[in-house]
Amino acid sequence: MLITQYLDEPCPRCGGTGKYGNVNVHHNVLRRGCNHCRQWTHFYLPDVNKKVIYLDQFFLSHAFRAQEKPFVEAAHRIADMAARQLIVCPYSSVHTSETHLWRHEQQQDLFTFIKQTARGQKFNEDFEIKRIQLSRAFTAFRAEGDITQPIEKNDAFREDVNTWDDYFYIDMRPILGDIEAMRQGKLNAIEALVNLFPDWAASTTSFAEDMEIEAKGYGQSLMKQYFQMLTALGAGDLIAYLNAPTDAMYVEYLLHYDKDTLQSDAQLARAAKFLVSPHFMMIPHLRISCGLFAMLRKLVKEGAYKNPEKARKKLAGLFYDSNCISIFGPYCDAIFVDRIMHQWCEAPQARVLEPYGTAIFSVAGWDAFHSYLDDIEENYTEDIHRAVDIVYPGLYT
Ligand SMILES: [Zn+2]
Repeated sequence: MLITQYLDEPCPRCGGTGKYGNVNVHHNVLRRGCNHCRQWTHFYLPDVNKKVIYLDQFFLSHAFRAQEKPFVEAAHRIADMAARQLIVCPYSSVHTSETHLWRHEQQQDLFTFIKQTARGQKFNEDFEIKRIQLSRAFTAFRAEGDITQPIEKNDAFREDVNTWDDYFYIDMRPILGDIEAMRQGKLNAIEALVNLFPDWAASTTSFAEDMEIEAKGYGQSLMKQYFQMLTALGAGDLIAYLNAPTDAMYVEYLLHYDKDTLQSDAQLARAAKFLVSPHFMMIPHLRISCGLFAMLRKLVKEGAYKNPEKARKKLAGLFYDSNCISIFGPYCDAIFVDRIMHQWCEAPQARVLEPYGTAIFSVAGWDAFHSYLDDIEENYTEDIHRAVDIVYPGLYT
């Protein structure tokens, strides 16, 4: 058997020393084994209640570069608390994309660092979480049920986060698209966004109206992309179908419901009605991203981001930031984001994560972040401490 760590103590079965040790941790059971007598010993570990903290790319890349003390200190503290099973900082598809867009020789080292900080824990793919939320809202819409849908924590994670970490984690191969196309797409999206600013600056709509405009705009873009995909398919372009953005697939997904009982025209009409309905607008990820973009509209109206070149630079990471906050934020106990996103998230009009009780931190408040971590230390009970000493002998005595 593969012993991960040999122990100084003798095997309780055969009394032999030097061949007895920890093998693995699975479903809150630690297995020890002895290569002398070939017997197993099992230890039942106490339940853990980990806080989920999303560390954005900004935090992780600063921690990785290790040039600024506050990041280094916070990263060490996080690694220690994660090892003691108090917190978990899963990585996401947004980290994977942003890291691979980074043109740097240390790209893979950064990605390794991110996976190590996460101890292998990963969020489900962003498109999958969006699909689940869409499906839940559409089901409520069809049943004329509640317009607000609850967040189910299980939707966001591959595995239960509240189990003890094993010694080894499976290193998932990242799902990567065409990196060059992604880089170009990111530039194009920011360019198109900044080009809208003169119109936004002249508009007189309210914050609430802006949120609705954003949501309806997203609904229209879903429909448009679906029809573009159909047109390509009609022209015999199967590759275009296969490469269609996941957004185009969402409408197709809606059309699968009641396929046997509803004519295709009626299905399409119903999907179109759904995309302008309150049920659609209250989809958690959409509500949050619309709040953030309404915030941007407000700032533009107030005279911010007048210089297009500077605006493009300042907002370069906006779509990724908005994705990480809106898709993963509701499933987290806390998120660490950049200073501007922190301000937007907590602006009185927006308060985008308030319904989910997610705490928001940034470099604007290191003390607040550390005092949040201090509170979590209270979960380090005698039980957990003892179990940590058994799982990681000698490390935390
Ligand atoms: Zn033995």
